Amino acid sequence: MAERLHTGEKILRGIPVSAGVCRGKILVLDKSRHAVERRTLTDPEIPAELNRFQQALVKTREQLQEVQRQLTQSLGPGQASIFDAHLLVLEDPSVIDEVVRVIQQEKVNAEDAFHRVTDRYIGALAKVEDEYLRERATDMRDVSGRVMNNLLGLNEHLDLAHLTEPCIIIAHDLTPSKTAQLDRKNVLGFATDIGSRTSHTAIMARSLRIPAIVGLKNASEVLESGEYALLDGFNGHIVVNPTDQTLFEYGQLVRKQVSLEEKLRDALNQHAVTLDNHRLFISANIEQAGDIESVRNSGAEGVGLFRTEYLFLNRDHPPTEEEQYQAYRQVAAALKPSPVVIRTMDLGGDKLLTSLGIPPEMNPFLGWRAIRYCLQEEDIFRAQLRAILRASVEGNLKIMYPMISGLDELNQANAFVAQSKNELRKEGVAFDDNIELGAMIETPSAAVIADALAKRVQFFSLGTNDLIQYTLAVDRMNEKIAHLYEPTHPAIVRLIKTTVVAARTQKVWVSVCGEMAGDPTLVPLLMGLGVDELSAAPALLPQLKYLVRRLKLADAQELAKFALECESATEILERSTALAQRAAPSLFDTKK
Ligand code: PEP
Ligand code: MG
Repeated sequence: MAERLHTGEKILRGIPVSAGVCRGKILVLDKSRHAVERRTLTDPEIPAELNRFQQALVKTREQLQEVQRQLTQSLGPGQASIFDAHLLVLEDPSVIDEVVRVIQQEKVNAEDAFHRVTDRYIGALAKVEDEYLRERATDMRDVSGRVMNNLLGLNEHLDLAHLTEPCIIIAHDLTPSKTAQLDRKNVLGFATDIGSRTSHTAIMARSLRIPAIVGLKNASEVLESGEYALLDGFNGHIVVNPTDQTLFEYGQLVRKQVSLEEKLRDALNQHAVTLDNHRLFISANIEQAGDIESVRNSGAEGVGLFRTEYLFLNRDHPPTEEEQYQAYRQVAAALKPSPVVIRTMDLGGDKLLTSLGIPPEMNPFLGWRAIRYCLQEEDIFRAQLRAILRASVEGNLKIMYPMISGLDELNQANAFVAQSKNELRKEGVAFDDNIELGAMIETPSAAVIADALAKRVQFFSLGTNDLIQYTLAVDRMNEKIAHLYEPTHPAIVRLIKTTVVAARTQKVWVSVCGEMAGDPTLVPLLMGLGVDELSAAPALLPQLKYLVRRLKLADAQELAKFALECESATEILERSTALAQRAAPSLFDTKK
């Protein structure tokens, strides 16, 4: 909900997901209610305008047919038939004739004519009693949004990759693959209506170091392209038309951040050793080989999670074994002897890839994703394992499986690795025969049977993003229930402890690579529970080291003991936060 102040400022509040402040012009994507300018035409301009309108209709028809074709392939003709209705709307002669008439008679541009005519139709349809007709209003809104995009030359892909000026992107949603394409030069920051802290869009923003807010609910509706705004990624605020006073206050916030960054620089090349001499490993999460530089600059002691599925996004075919080999080799060689954990691809959930034939599902997070997909699509899995194994001679690589939910899956995945090794051996191709294997602990079932899993791997990595969503039954993407997504829920605390205890018995290393690891307020808790390593976005690592160096393990252990007996998520969070704040108050200065 936008809050309008007497100063003329408009403030929208959402969930802060990537730190930093930026200001600039807003660009609203996917807006069905486009800001439309009216242009008056001269008589000779009219035929060209009519032609432009026809071209936009043709292009929209082609796009709809393409979506329909893809859906028919993946879901069958039944589901795809919804686009028949869209195509019918597009061909509705009463609308088209009226737009043509308005262009000719009123001598206005096609956008204006089309917008006014469809708006009137949509308004009338939305009011009728008949449910069938009311649904046609939705179809019409959808189709008219597409036509309008084509008239305005707003191709989403183009928008993001070739922005002509710096702007703040506002969208209802940005998929992780779209986020990965953002033109960092010209995207000052972004904000979305939906999403939460652990949606991959948010994770990507932190990785790209772009200030970002999600879960704004209706920002894409109430904001208009061209408005001037300030985006505060520390606190989750967008201030439209900021006053001088607001700009001044934010200037101070930015200065605090700059001075904090200077302090953090000292900790960068030091180990994360507590005041009572306990060492925690600090590693980076990366999405692509191109992130090597930011890993080097972050003080990371390795890569705790390479989300390889990003190699599979934004393309028509999966990457070949050779292509993957090059990517893994590059990272291994650049960072050796530091360890690099390559997670086998974790497509599915919010990272969808139609070209790999993963059809839309009712419950994508509970569906055919990650290791489940790989164990069935053997060729894809084998190509990836071979690529990792081949690259393993170039540095210190480890293999990690995502979404393990049972022992059979782990055994099968290990068997695939053994097979791939055999193949390479026969081919005379070198690989590291002692390459370590690890399982992500991100389903409650995996945490509960961690004792069995621990006998078959060398390391665990707690994927708390998913562990929380599956344990608490809270969709990690859904801003409406973001308040229920509680990392300090006693159930989560106990599952982490179960995992650590099982790991200790088998001398298995435990890392945390979910977003909990990068949150200073939760570091005392994780440390006290006994994890060995925290892996987070490179931008977050300096503050983790800075904090750990000011904490005592003994205090963290006392906190963990309390948390394991406590019944309240809020109390656990408060205690952990208080410990972090006491140890390193300056880390919290940018909170308003
Ligand atoms: C997790 O679930 O915590 C994790 C690190 O994996 P991802 O965020 O890629 O699902
Ligand atoms: Mg996960």
